[in-house]
Amino acid sequence: MPQPTMPYPTLDAYPTMPYPTMPYPTMPYPTLDAYVPKALADELLPKLAQAGERAEAIEASGGGRPVDPGQALRGMASALGSLGILDLVCRARDGGPREELSSTALCLARERLAYASPLLDLAFAMQGLGSYPISAKGDDAQRAANMPGVRSGARVAGFALTEPNAGTDLGGITTTARREGDHYVIDGAKCFISNAGIADVYTLFALTAPEAPERRLSAFILPADVDGLSVKKQRVLGGHPIGELKLRGVRLHASALLGREGDGMSAALGTLHRFRTTVGAAAVGLAQRALDEAVTHVKAREQFGAPLAELALVQARLATMAVDVTSARLMVFEAARVMDAGGDRAAVSRSASMAKLYATEAAQRVVDSAVQLLGGRGVLADGVVGRLYQEVRSLRIYEGTNDVHLTLVARDLLSRG
Ligand SMILES: Cc1cc2nc3c(=O)[nH]c(=O)nc-3n(C[C@H](O)[C@H](O)[C@H](O)COP(=O)(O)OP(=O)(O)OC[C@H]3O[C@@H](n4cnc5c(N)ncnc54)[C@H](O)[C@@H]3O)c2cc1C
Repeated sequence: MPQPTMPYPTLDAYPTMPYPTMPYPTMPYPTLDAYVPKALADELLPKLAQAGERAEAIEASGGGRPVDPGQALRGMASALGSLGILDLVCRARDGGPREELSSTALCLARERLAYASPLLDLAFAMQGLGSYPISAKGDDAQRAANMPGVRSGARVAGFALTEPNAGTDLGGITTTARREGDHYVIDGAKCFISNAGIADVYTLFALTAPEAPERRLSAFILPADVDGLSVKKQRVLGGHPIGELKLRGVRLHASALLGREGDGMSAALGTLHRFRTTVGAAAVGLAQRALDEAVTHVKAREQFGAPLAELALVQARLATMAVDVTSARLMVFEAARVMDAGGDRAAVSRSASMAKLYATEAAQRVVDSAVQLLGGRGVLADGVVGRLYQEVRSLRIYEGTNDVHLTLVARDLLSRG
């Protein structure tokens, strides 16, 4: 394969990057110096560790009984806000540290938060996903009414795009927003909405006046307490709070429209584009946790008079897991770097699709191997590894199924000379 025909990233960037130092003795966490600026890591890592401790305390507060995920998530969002971690999902004009969100910072945060608790990671991710269309398209009044609460964690956000007949194919959306004087009247249904019934505010996507089909989708700010909105919980694997929204004659003032009519598709796709790589980062966090749990277990567990860790097959499995985690992390932080460097959209999309796809598939393999190494203890539904096994599956489905990302990568590959 001679270089000129290679459509994939030239490796020019690498000689200037220090080779990643990832000495195993420093596990559970490899140093991230190679990808994350030291100042950012120094600032964020202690805060992320504190958030993890608070999440553990919240999860333990049930005294052995499962805590209500809604209440727990609210507590976690508020902990993230008080530690300043939610600043990362805000642009400078809304109190965040930079003009645009830093993909590298989001990935660093999601990896560590997911390591500590998948629910904590969800609390963080949804504040970003649910509010990004508001921060991107919202006017001063819309941002002033919502972003401070998002930033403090007091106003929990949701993102309502998927419908029973519109998952991958957004062309199937049928929820409508009909203009009546100063209001829009909204009818329809959404499903698989994370934080349904917990969120205070959703970004809702609905069809407005029938213009050209690609210009019909519009985005709205939907307060959770509006008349005509009802929620039915759904149960998915793991502790992910999720549900359906039914909208029957919901009246929203025209000031709830984000941007202009027809801006919905760009708001939805722009949000997914920004957060896709961070799903890969969450996957790396789950996988690293599974690997660490497995290492601890095989050192302690004895069979045939010796620790499992002495068996060659166990060592091979651990090494394979470590290779998966490390390569996934490299792809995620490389994709984050490409996005933060403001590369062209095709390059950013390609690396984000590849990172999301690779990291979530790798995490599935790693968590499955951890289950195997723990034996029966690996499938205890309340054990750490058993819970990771339930949580990891959904990551291959949301924010673009992995099949779709395969298709996108292939399409990009074939579109080049
Ligand atoms: C835990 C979880 C949380 C979620 N949170 C949210 C949320 O907060 N907000 C929200 O709006 N949505 C959310 N979703 C919905 C999620 O985005 C959709 O489930 C996803 O887009 C897939 O849509 P679908 O489930 O309808 O599957 P379908 O689109 O029906 O796909 C089914 C299968 O067909 C394949 N397929 C479909 N089209 C193609 C194609 N063109 N090429 C190749 N294969 C294809 C898919 O890859 C998949 O394997 C969540 C989902 C889950 C599981």
